[in-house]
Amino acid sequence: MDSFENYAGQSVHIGRLKSEFTNGTFTHAYLFAGPAGTGKKSVARLCAMTAMCRGERKPCGECGPCRRILAGTHPDVHVLTPLADKREISVDQMRQMLREADIHTFEDGIKVFLIPDAEKMNVPSQNTLLKTLEEPFPNTVFLLTIVHLSALLPTVVSRCRLIRFHPLTDEQTEARLRALGVEESQVALRARISEGCVGQALAVREETIQLRDEISRLFFSAHSLANSPGVVNRFKDDKENRQTILNLFEEILREVIQVQAGKQDSLSLPQDAAAYAAHVPLQGGLALRDRIIEGRKMLRSNVPFQSVLETVLIKISEEYNQWPW
Ligand SMILES: [Zn+2]
Repeated sequence: MDSFENYAGQSVHIGRLKSEFTNGTFTHAYLFAGPAGTGKKSVARLCAMTAMCRGERKPCGECGPCRRILAGTHPDVHVLTPLADKREISVDQMRQMLREADIHTFEDGIKVFLIPDAEKMNVPSQNTLLKTLEEPFPNTVFLLTIVHLSALLPTVVSRCRLIRFHPLTDEQTEARLRALGVEESQVALRARISEGCVGQALAVREETIQLRDEISRLFFSAHSLANSPGVVNRFKDDKENRQTILNLFEEILREVIQVQAGKQDSLSLPQDAAAYAAHVPLQGGLALRDRIIEGRKMLRSNVPFQSVLETVLIKISEEYNQWPW
């Protein structure tokens, strides 16, 4: 069973949220804001369960209301997302939801309205919600979660209690992943790729992990230019993964730079990247990173991916070969 304590590192307000929902002293609207994968939706669900739980230690996860919320079938918990074929939450959907808020409850007299991707409310639906936030219904709580706070009208933000969520440190992410049963051999890697967002760390696919290994092996072995055409051919037509390939290489390079700067040991790096970090000094790693940033710009200007790869690989080789053995 999930608990508030699991998210203590993601927001300084977790303890207060837990006590407000346990004691029934919650306010009418909360807005959880922060990067994807920092636990906002999970905490919103815990708040809903705690408000409605009939167990002794709330949320118990086992009483009727807890189980119905976990199954998504609680009649007094409403989740508002765009309709299947739409990108936005329309004003009609919002009106219909607010009508539900105005009628009686089915169970304990508390109603919860979850808006998990609040940036999907268009301006008219935000304005409709605003009227309700200004004159809240009794025993009703709105829980909004959002990544980009700027997508909301300032008036909507100001009517909610804003709770900010933050990424965890690598160590905290690793501890959470272990607690969630992630295989030990993948814990450190997933933590690094996801930059402290546990949800993203869990969502990293096996193929991405394999791709990262391959990129590390091939790119860093291209310090001999003779290897370069093979690497270009391997990746040049992978349209779908172009951005991911650059991102993964940049992520490995960030680790390389940490090693070059003496801030971490090379044990965490794949073998070829570790060898590169041992041979090329910090200034070479930084120069290579600048080239990646250029490569990203080239991609945005529709330069063929083949040329982007070539310019990055040339830099890898240049930096490697200008330092004596
Ligand atoms: Zn319960």
